[in-house]
Amino acid sequence: MKTATVTILGSGTSQGVPVIGCGCDTCKSIDNYDKRLRSSILIESAETTIVVDTGPDFRQQMLREEVKKLDAVLITHCHKDHIAGMDDVRSFNFLQKKAMPIYASPADQKVIKTEFSYAFADNKYPGVPSFDLIDLDENLLKFNDLYITPIRVMHRYMPVYAFRIGNFAYITDANYIPEPGLETLQGIELLVIDAVRKEKHISHFSLSEAVAMAQKIGVKQCWFTHISHLMGKAADVNAELPSGMQLAWDGLKIEIRY
Ligand SMILES: [Zn+2]
Ligand SMILES: [Zn+2]
Ligand SMILES: [Zn+2]
Repeated sequence: MKTATVTILGSGTSQGVPVIGCGCDTCKSIDNYDKRLRSSILIESAETTIVVDTGPDFRQQMLREEVKKLDAVLITHCHKDHIAGMDDVRSFNFLQKKAMPIYASPADQKVIKTEFSYAFADNKYPGVPSFDLIDLDENLLKFNDLYITPIRVMHRYMPVYAFRIGNFAYITDANYIPEPGLETLQGIELLVIDAVRKEKHISHFSLSEAVAMAQKIGVKQCWFTHISHLMGKAADVNAELPSGMQLAWDGLKIEIRY
């Protein structure tokens, strides 16, 4: 039995919380639990450090958590709030003197090559990031001492990768989990899952849908992520949630077993 630590790097939806220019109670809250960078997690085992998604806040998240080495990046999907910060992996290119392995679906790789075309140019400008794009599918990923199972979930019509490691799973940007994915999730105890707001949403689980999904999977503890300012203040929402469930927060650390 091995253990690893999952850190919530960001728990906010695409605009983050507070939202620029918004004067709502949640955006004006002085509670740190209401300040959310864009959604991402850090996974650290004895030998391995992995980041899931490199959103617009990637640089700030790496500095906050004092990450000094990074073995690979896993991309859930190519929406801007999950890839916009990828340029900053170049700091790790310089430190580690090698290209950064980026695991992404073939469709997402196409978008990455367009969005960061300068990193794939024949004559590269000095200092641009160096990405080693690797196909992501549902096969088990092995990184030294860490094993990760990708799971295909749906973000309206868009396939997104969720990830299971032992007794833990991370599901962001989904509103539907097809049957094979539900089977792969059997037996987990700890879950971080997308819940954008209370009202129904076209491509994300709402809070009640996410609660129902956590109950269906049967987890002991669940944290909700990818949260909009429309969700309301963390303290108010947490007071209404069933026991073992709460809104995730930036900096939350979860000890997992695999
Ligand atoms: Zn997103
Ligand atoms: Zn607001
Ligand atoms: Zn998305």
